[in-house]
Amino acid sequence: MSKSHIESFTKASFPELQRICKAMYHKGMFAGTDGNVSIRLPQNSGILVTSSGVHKGFLEEKHLVAVDWHGNIICGSGDPTSELPLHQEIYRADENTGAIIHTHAPWTTALNLAGIMLDTEKLVEAETLLKQVPVVPYHPPGTLELAKVTAKKIGKGPALILERHGAVTFGENIEKAFCYMECLEHSAKIIAISRMLNPQ
Ligand SMILES: [Zn+2]
Repeated sequence: MSKSHIESFTKASFPELQRICKAMYHKGMFAGTDGNVSIRLPQNSGILVTSSGVHKGFLEEKHLVAVDWHGNIICGSGDPTSELPLHQEIYRADENTGAIIHTHAPWTTALNLAGIMLDTEKLVEAETLLKQVPVVPYHPPGTLELAKVTAKKIGKGPALILERHGAVTFGENIEKAFCYMECLEHSAKIIAISRMLNPQ
């Protein structure tokens, strides 16, 4: 795919990515410059990802970078997110994945820090949409180790919890990945509140 085609694709994709990022920010799933989102480029030419150090709640088109599978920048001015390996390894592991979202969603992360499993069987919506949510053992953010271990956990559902870090969801498009992240965080919140009301 030529650079000009990828530039046109970036322009066309931006409004939807901006809409989703804004929604997640207003849901409290992004704070400061944390989190990142990506979509697969047409003809599997690489990925379009948010750049490093930008606030996803105020995403602009210049905050998107297209990179090939070796991490080379095809177009865009910033550096890709430090979690680029995480995104790349998930796309490599699952050819049906067209979009990925990574956040430090607070209820999901808090539940994990408290050592409470996100048991989807307790909530019909979560079980239907997320199936099972494996926990990826801790590895430092941005490392290839984290990316490789995360990719190995794929296969049970569209969401993963990253131990002491956050969550990642993936789907055929960005709206699906968003629905999974929202469902994950909403479920974690319900389970956390139920534990507060009735500590076990
Ligand atoms: Zn992170």
